[in-house]
Amino acid sequence: MPLKIAAGNWKMNGTAASLGEISALGAALPDPAPAVVICPPAPLLFRAHEIAGPLRITIGAQDCHNDTEGAYTGDISAEMIADTGATHVILGHSERREAYAETNDDVRDKIRAAWNAGLTAILCIGESGEDRAANNTLDIIGGQLAGSLPNGATAASTLVAYEPIWAIGTGKVPTLEEIIEVHDFIRDRLTQRFGVETGSEISLLYGGSVKPDNAETIFRAENVDGALVGGASLRATDFAPIIAALARS
Ligand code: PEP
Repeated sequence: MPLKIAAGNWKMNGTAASLGEISALGAALPDPAPAVVICPPAPLLFRAHEIAGPLRITIGAQDCHNDTEGAYTGDISAEMIADTGATHVILGHSERREAYAETNDDVRDKIRAAWNAGLTAILCIGESGEDRAANNTLDIIGGQLAGSLPNGATAASTLVAYEPIWAIGTGKVPTLEEIIEVHDFIRDRLTQRFGVETGSEISLLYGGSVKPDNAETIFRAENVDGALVGGASLRATDFAPIIAALARS
């Protein structure tokens, strides 16, 4: 069975004052709890890890460079992320693909760098509203998966998050049937490429306007093993009920 995982992407939100949300979340976790990963902005990684360590919460970053070191002003390497104690890194988020023109090749190189540093990559893939309207969703997802995910993926090194771009931060959510169709498709592609044993163990997360009031329904789908949550991960009072719904699923 794939691991159940709830990951929170704080994006460019939060200062040291927000770290109290991690403590509050730790106190509100169900027992047993699914795996919980919080991805705060890079300047908070070290302190977030110190706070999260005793709380059954792990910490992830939101991006990394594909090189290990060098003249890349403003960037951080996967090694630097691992050095903070963080264990995960989000890669290929649609906001980076769009705003920084990251290609599948870029994302693939970054995933290799993450693996080399011992990090688990959370690979994001998803179609735009136009792609969905034109019935191109599965082509886009298949292309991103094939192009961004390097050979050698394992359940320990990789999570795949299906994040329809039109659902991110909009309050719009695909129907359960639409989520099931894409997640089943991703599962098939992973088992074809990496074999049944590995492909069926890689956790598949859904992301895009997951909230406390829709999480239960989304987690009903067989190949939804968790969620990547943006806005609703910023407050423990919102994220905890989503995690509780995952624990019950
Ligand atoms: C995200 O950006 O990864 C995300 C899922 O955001 P939100 O939950 O706010 O839609």
